[in-house]
Formats: sequence, C-alpha cells, structure tokens
Amino acid sequence: MATTKILCSKCNSEEVIFAGYNYCKSGKKQRLKCKSCGNSFQAHYSLSSYKPDVKTQIVEMLHNGSGIRNISHVLKVGKETVSKEAKKRISANYTTVLVVS
Ligand SMILES: [Zn+2]
Repeated sequence: MATTKILCSKCNSEEVIFAGYNYCKSGKKQRLKCKSCGNSFQAHYSLSSYKPDVKTQIVEMLHNGSGIRNISHVLKVGKETVSKEAKKRISANYTTVLVVS
C-alpha cells in the first residue's frame, strides 16, 4: 500500500498530527498541526486563495507589473485577496525603508 507523507506547509517537518476538522460548504476537511512549529493547516484546500503557492504568485505578478484585476482573473482568486496581499507588501516595504533611513 502506498502512503503519502504530509509535510508542514511552513517548515517542511514530518511531525504532523491530526487536529480536528473544518466544516465548510464543500464538506468536512481534516485539519493538521505541526508538532515542531505549531502551524495549523489543511492538507487539501478547496478555495484557491488559501493555497500557499498563490500568495507567492500574486507577489511575483505584482512585481512584473500586472494589475489587480488581471491577477485575480488569471489565478482565479478574488480582487480583495490580491489587493490585501499588495497592501501587506507595501506596508512591509515601508517598514524596511524606515529602518534603513
Ligand atoms: Zn512546521
């Protein structure tokens, strides 16, 4: 029987335990918790905006000059998700500017 190891989405540790369920419109989803860093996550997300790769793709597309509506259309996430991620990056850049100068 083939088994798949579930790794932590934050630190890639194999010490992951089952930690309850999420109840959403698409059904009951298993929650997992990392024993090393305490990160709580799902193995499979039904909404694409919660997937960890989407956040990095949003940042890369913002750096390449794509608009918010274009990004939300291509990645199939809401405009609010893209603008929220853009605001996070802008505020992060302001803090680094303030620390440097
Ligand atoms: Zn972890």
